[in-house]
Amino acid sequence: MHCDVIVLGAGAVGTCVALHLQKRGRSVVLLDRRGVAEETSYGNAGLIQREGVFPYGFPHDFGALARYALNRTIDAHYHPSALWRLAPFLWEYWKHSRPARHAEVARRYSRLIEHCVSEHEALAGESGAAHLLRRTGWMKVFRTERERDRRYAEAEDWEREFGIRHRRIDAAELRELEPHLAPVLVGALHWTDPVSVDDPQALTLAYAEHFRRLGGVLAQGNAASLRPKGKGWEVHAEGQSITAAQAVVALGPWSETLTVRLGYRLPLAVKRGYHMHYRPAGRATLNHPLLDTERGYFLAPMRRGIRLTTGAEFALRDARRTPVQLARAEPIARELFPLAERLDPEPWMGSRPCTPDMLPVIGPAPRHPNLWFAFGHAHHGLTLAAVTGRLVAELVCGEAPFVDPAPFAATRFG
Ligand SMILES: Cc1cc2nc3c(=O)[nH]c(=O)nc-3n(C[C@H](O)[C@H](O)[C@H](O)COP(=O)(O)OP(=O)(O)OC[C@H]3O[C@@H](n4cnc5c(N)ncnc54)[C@H](O)[C@@H]3O)c2cc1C
Repeated sequence: MHCDVIVLGAGAVGTCVALHLQKRGRSVVLLDRRGVAEETSYGNAGLIQREGVFPYGFPHDFGALARYALNRTIDAHYHPSALWRLAPFLWEYWKHSRPARHAEVARRYSRLIEHCVSEHEALAGESGAAHLLRRTGWMKVFRTERERDRRYAEAEDWEREFGIRHRRIDAAELRELEPHLAPVLVGALHWTDPVSVDDPQALTLAYAEHFRRLGGVLAQGNAASLRPKGKGWEVHAEGQSITAAQAVVALGPWSETLTVRLGYRLPLAVKRGYHMHYRPAGRATLNHPLLDTERGYFLAPMRRGIRLTTGAEFALRDARRTPVQLARAEPIARELFPLAERLDPEPWMGSRPCTPDMLPVIGPAPRHPNLWFAFGHAHHGLTLAAVTGRLVAELVCGEAPFVDPAPFAATRFG
């Protein structure tokens, strides 16, 4: 079988790349060893984070570092045995998170983020999935005035520099908006521009179905079988050889398995995260996704129940699962919102694919013609999937890119 482009990885990112290419008249095979969006893109918190111009940095204040060093917080956890392997990544990550550098990173990143909602709206509209996008925004809720005021000031800065809108919500209004939250909160910051989905996998499945309707082919196979063939590429899937003029690597946290084999030394790592669903007790409802800011866990109303998601776990991607952050967050979340029983037999785990400068890798593979990279979206792979899909498709098709791709080039790592 021959096609124009093979896209490796049917997570949110790869599926959007494949759909955008197919829309441009390219014949595309979207290959995954599993089904569509069954890995990281399955279990995230469902936010399309229009406000997320500052990618999550490594903390630089001494208090936070001391707390993390004790390894007992909810928002971050690490495997001590992995630290020596992660040290080069963490050192670079720390350097890129210095305030002045982080601000520079944010200015570059914001050029992608500013299109995240409009690009998803366009794809969702064409895919008959507009109803999956909820225009509720999301909230940071606060237990102390100090944290509240700090975040309000930050939001003002972001509004001035990036035009991101927010609302200040006092305790009384919060009780009206979220009547089932315990009255322990002093207020909230409501990001009004972001969009949320109550089933992130369903959104990617809708994109994949649209891709298929346009003539795209979904195939099951191992991306590790990718080999150069003539001026193009070949993979083996479903008992046959698939050849293509071009290939796109969109394997999320597994991208490294292929890039290393092709001779690239990209400084990639993962931040793992967990989720669990709960039945809301009685008739309790949660109307907005929300972050319990000072405690460091997230609650999102999802189709399946209330999804509690955890922050970053620094560990090797394939190390044993250690859902300690979930265990720490659950009793605190139960005090904030009436959660009934767990709905999943086991905690779900996913791995956010990260780079130390917090920017994704999007663009041509430096030493292989007709090979493209689209990975490393860290905390924002759902947010940036549609933007990345359009940008990669424009580059592959030789069109003028709608966002300058230079800051995201793999060549920045030497
Ligand atoms: C707890 C948690 C909460 C999050 N919340 C949010 C959020 O609210 N908003 C947001 O924007 N992002 C969020 N993220 C991040 C987001 O989920 C990821 O950035 C995103 O899913 C990455 O998408 P991807 O397509 O790059 O990778 P993936 O979804 O992991 O897709 C990679 C695909 O490659 C396939 N694959 C791997 N190896 C092979 C192989 N050898 N052969 C063939 N196929 C292979 C896999 O099966 C998989 O389908 C969250 C992440 C976590 C863990």
